[in-house]
Amino acid sequence: AVRTADVPRMPAFYHVPLPYDGPTAAEIARKRAKFLSPSLFHFYSKPLNIVEGKMQYLYDEHGRRYLDAFAGIATVCCGHSHPDIVDAITAQAKRLQHSTVLYLNHAIADFAEALASKMPGDLKVVFFTNSGTEANELAIMMARMYTGSHDIISLRNSYHGNAAATMGATAQKNWKFNVIQSGVHHAVNPDPYRGAFGSDAEKYARDVKEIIEFGTTGHVAGFISEAIQGVGGIVEVSPGYLPLAYDTVRKAGGLCIADEVQAGFARVGSYFWGFETHGVIPDIVTMAKGIGNGIPLGAVVTTPEIAQVLTRRSYFNTFGGNPFCTAGGLAVLKVLDKEKLQENAFIVGSYLKDRLRGLQEKHEIIGDVRGTGFMLGVELVTDRQLKTPAKDEICRAMEHMKDMGVLVGKGGFYGNVFRITPPLCFTKEDADFFVDVMDIALSKL
Ligand code: PLP
Repeated sequence: AVRTADVPRMPAFYHVPLPYDGPTAAEIARKRAKFLSPSLFHFYSKPLNIVEGKMQYLYDEHGRRYLDAFAGIATVCCGHSHPDIVDAITAQAKRLQHSTVLYLNHAIADFAEALASKMPGDLKVVFFTNSGTEANELAIMMARMYTGSHDIISLRNSYHGNAAATMGATAQKNWKFNVIQSGVHHAVNPDPYRGAFGSDAEKYARDVKEIIEFGTTGHVAGFISEAIQGVGGIVEVSPGYLPLAYDTVRKAGGLCIADEVQAGFARVGSYFWGFETHGVIPDIVTMAKGIGNGIPLGAVVTTPEIAQVLTRRSYFNTFGGNPFCTAGGLAVLKVLDKEKLQENAFIVGSYLKDRLRGLQEKHEIIGDVRGTGFMLGVELVTDRQLKTPAKDEICRAMEHMKDMGVLVGKGGFYGNVFRITPPLCFTKEDADFFVDVMDIALSKL
């Protein structure tokens, strides 16, 4: 256990949590065991009962404050219960909580226009969904309809969702159930740390070409990839890979889909979208998570030409782009702008990464530090040469960090990568506190 005397002081933050008189963690855990899906998982030996959030902080039932470096799985981009977003959704809920595609509503149209203005090229037509999974399902369906081909290529180690087509495209056994996944091909992952070809973008892109030549008719529906794999353990695809892969796929008649569910909405710091860091323009972009700061919302954005495929039939979903969610989405875009959160993600994210690199020099267990902006990964290995995943050690380190008031994510194929994806309002002081806490936690292993 960590001694209180060793714990660095958390940055000052003035917020008094509301009184809480709800059920205790133990009572909720009992209900959860009885009434909720057994597939639910949690990170800590004793699950936390989080009852309140304010910006980059979360509070448990005892009013204890935690620095949140995971942001509800890279979702809460502007900060928990950001007042502007709370005001926007409250005002909209009072006026009109739900409307369907059958009627006009300005909240939906305003947000679509604002979202399209964030897109490069001809990516101007928006379809709203309720989640990242639905967005990717729709994108894959559109690519198949547009091209008349069924073959989709995705990267090994990727995560794209948990419905039929997206679970097929997801390429990690950890996230696959026994669903039929016809027409999906998984390309060698252009992973600079663990990948078969190191950082050699050309060799990885050649694999895409071979998949097309040896696994399909030569004509494909599309290629889907994240710019930085999130669930896969913050794996940045090798620089230079995406332009080559896009070129190869387009020559085979396919569409290129960028899954921005995790990397989008200013998280990568240097750009608004992850794909922009690779200098490519996709044909379809999918998004969720940060789009609503935690409001269930997703979207697919594409070109007017590709969007035409959906005019062949009526396509809708009941809640997709309902005014409550889209009013919140519009408020998110305004906050990102007003508070210069992309700039903050770049500046503080770069500082945090430098400090984590410093930690790597001190702790042999850190095999790799990677990522960009506020999408950072720290991979723990028990042997740097063999890259043996430190699976138990990361769990112990997370427990120590939680005891010191820091919540962080973990993931990757072996579950040995810290995923550091805080709200974009994370400050330099928060970054220092985070690294000091991680330092102590790793020293205690
Ligand atoms: N795509 C990526 C890159 C994701 O990280 C996720 C979820 O983690 C999804 C898609 C699926 O999104 P959702 O959980 O909202 O269905």
